[in-house]
Amino acid sequence: MTRPALVITCEHGGNHIPAVYRPLFEGQDAVLQSHRGFDAGALKMAQTLADAFGAPLVSATVSRLLVDLNRSTHNPTLHAEGVRRLPATQRQEILTRFYQPYRSRAEQAIRQAIADNGAVIHLSSHSFTPELDGRLRKADIGLLYDPRRPGEVALCQHWKAALAATAPQLTVRRNYPYAGKGDGLTAWLRRCLTPDVYIGVELEINQKHVTAEGDCPALRQWIVESLREALPHMQSHPPRDRGSPP
Ligand SMILES: [Zn+2]
Repeated sequence: MTRPALVITCEHGGNHIPAVYRPLFEGQDAVLQSHRGFDAGALKMAQTLADAFGAPLVSATVSRLLVDLNRSTHNPTLHAEGVRRLPATQRQEILTRFYQPYRSRAEQAIRQAIADNGAVIHLSSHSFTPELDGRLRKADIGLLYDPRRPGEVALCQHWKAALAATAPQLTVRRNYPYAGKGDGLTAWLRRCLTPDVYIGVELEINQKHVTAEGDCPALRQWIVESLREALPHMQSHPPRDRGSPP
């Protein structure tokens, strides 16, 4: 029995708008800087996890307002309104330039990890705004998974318990502030990869912990320590039907 390999991704790592598309976002600096433009702190969190565990990191810094890498192409929120109004050929160009290469890199890293280790734990790093539509979101950390996938349930149980031991002052909630089985990169990968080889979890950190520089050192440390505690509980079987090394 081996341990599943880790792959880290970050779909909402930045709010970059390439020069050619900037006219579409004129006067929208405030929204680009807000939680609608990107996930503050998520990229630093992803980099910390990748460094701590020697895991591959697939990340992007193009703003989700241009194209949301964590949505299916048929999702109406794939683009912000101004981009949705572009002719189909221009929207296709955005997909070809930013969306498809990102999705391919993520899928490739995940398939490679499965080929090498028999199974993968994919952590997709995100952050959420502490207040949405006048409602306060009190959790510090959310762990999003599909309750129908036993490996995902197990990882989140162990991780939540380890977080409670490492940092009891934190409120950790499962499938909060969103349901893990909603549209996204993990949901898409679940459709291609069976539960015995693919464990996909979205890590959501509350942006109240993130400084103006996009940092949250204490929270990052607790998350790494607790994951280190939780991982030994996760075992994978060696790759099946692919022949084992002698
Ligand atoms: Zn996000």
